[in-house]
Amino acid sequence: MILDGDALVILDQTRLPWRVEERRLVTLEDVAEAISAMRVRGAPLIGCVAAFGVAVALTKGKADDVALDHALTVLRATRPTAVNLMWALDRMDARLRPLVPAARPEAAWAEAEAIRAEDAAMCAAIGAHGLALLRGLPAREGRALRVMTHCNAGRLATAGMGTALAPIYAAHAEGLAVEVFVSETRPRNQGLLTAWELAAAGIKHTLIADNAAGLLLMRGEVDVVIVGADRIAANGDTANKVGTYLKALAAREAGVPFYVAAPASTFDAETPCGEAIPVEERAEEEVFFVDGLDGEGCPGRLRLASEGTRAANPAFDVTPASLVSGFITERGIIGDRPRLPTGNRGLSPIILAVARTLKEHRLNVGASGNVSARCDDGFLITPSGLLPERGSAADMVWMKMDGTYAGELAPSSEWRIHRDIYASVPEAGAVVHAHSPFATALACQRVDIPPFHYMIALFGGDSVRCAAYATFGTEALSKNVLLALAGRNACLLANHGMLVYGRDPAHALAQAIELESLCEQYWRACQPGPPVLLSEKEMAEAMERFRHYGAREFKQ
Ligand SMILES: [Zn+2]
Repeated sequence: MILDGDALVILDQTRLPWRVEERRLVTLEDVAEAISAMRVRGAPLIGCVAAFGVAVALTKGKADDVALDHALTVLRATRPTAVNLMWALDRMDARLRPLVPAARPEAAWAEAEAIRAEDAAMCAAIGAHGLALLRGLPAREGRALRVMTHCNAGRLATAGMGTALAPIYAAHAEGLAVEVFVSETRPRNQGLLTAWELAAAGIKHTLIADNAAGLLLMRGEVDVVIVGADRIAANGDTANKVGTYLKALAAREAGVPFYVAAPASTFDAETPCGEAIPVEERAEEEVFFVDGLDGEGCPGRLRLASEGTRAANPAFDVTPASLVSGFITERGIIGDRPRLPTGNRGLSPIILAVARTLKEHRLNVGASGNVSARCDDGFLITPSGLLPERGSAADMVWMKMDGTYAGELAPSSEWRIHRDIYASVPEAGAVVHAHSPFATALACQRVDIPPFHYMIALFGGDSVRCAAYATFGTEALSKNVLLALAGRNACLLANHGMLVYGRDPAHALAQAIELESLCEQYWRACQPGPPVLLSEKEMAEAMERFRHYGAREFKQ
């Protein structure tokens, strides 16, 4: 957008990417039409152009209160969802209303220019914060960082380098290799604008149909998703171009971080949550028709749907805050959650599979018990109250050693025991806790399992101890468990259940099944009277054999 005397010259984005066509806006009506017809689009640019629209209106006609109100009303009606538009117009109103009409036109141009300069600076700051975030993503073994975006939140949508694309431009400028997956963004195909401007900047990009995004995310072919926003409610629910929500869902399922890049002015404290954001319904013609070039290179419009078909055309959707990893703003990253390191994403389905197997073997019923595995500088754990057969891999909670966690589900209430085991036992790679029937029955007797069978040596000593009772989920219970585990990788929990740890989830699962089986054997062996116990020497020999057995197994 440039100024030419008292006129505004814009790039007509409805003509892009086939034609680079400028359009002069000389009246208020021109400006309003350009915004509502999406000749200019993108929340920040709309705000900027609307501000200049007020200047145009007050310069062409009168500048009294009636004229000012008229200009504000006409411009406010152009795009109801864009909070930036309202913000820019409120700002113009606040600046101009106290002035005498004669002073208003000049002040209007100056204020609009200030909004434009601030927008460019805002974009640059978002780019800098976004770049730091991209640099912090896990290493990618010699390949470019793969970013997925939706719609257009780039240079064409702002007065600067964009919002969602700003980190990409910043990365490109700094020599960090990036490549961008650009989704078409039906029905208006703003993705084509993104592709056009990335091509102009020499940034590697690939255009995809909107429907391909889920597969690419699932296959791990995307490192991070960054989108813009039209309005962010007070609770973080984010309205953006329709289709954003589907990407957020797929990203969450795949464990790919999903960021919203937007200026602070996009946050709307007056709107409590997503349901309160008005969603603009646009004309069905946008769905029926597609614009492009014909075989001769002439622009044309084709009808896709047959006559008599109706279409729904919501312009935006609302992505719940729980699906957003963080917000990249000009003031820094807001609400950043710890992210599961991408290299360990494969662990989530394994943990879920172990939880399901425990249930199939009746070691757990309902939502009892829990499973975790060490992961990066934390661990992945089943969430609280999860029915394994109903949950998905994405439900696993990644928790750091300081007790903070990623995702919307809370970790299992027993996370403390898992955390404390990982903190104090370096060789523990996975932990299984179960309320299995025989182990629990013995735990209610508060007995240690003696060396009634040589297989007891599998757990590191000549007994499996029973940890003293404490309320579930407490620090006291965690302490009692660690005491009972000294020199062992399994224990009972008084009036509660059992716990084992192993090298990895499969090992821990095998140990849990083994322990429950031994508990059953001990229970049955006790029925005719106390069983004969193995001597210290016999157990020492068994343990010696297990050590070699274990070592061999380890090398395989
Ligand atoms: Zn429990």
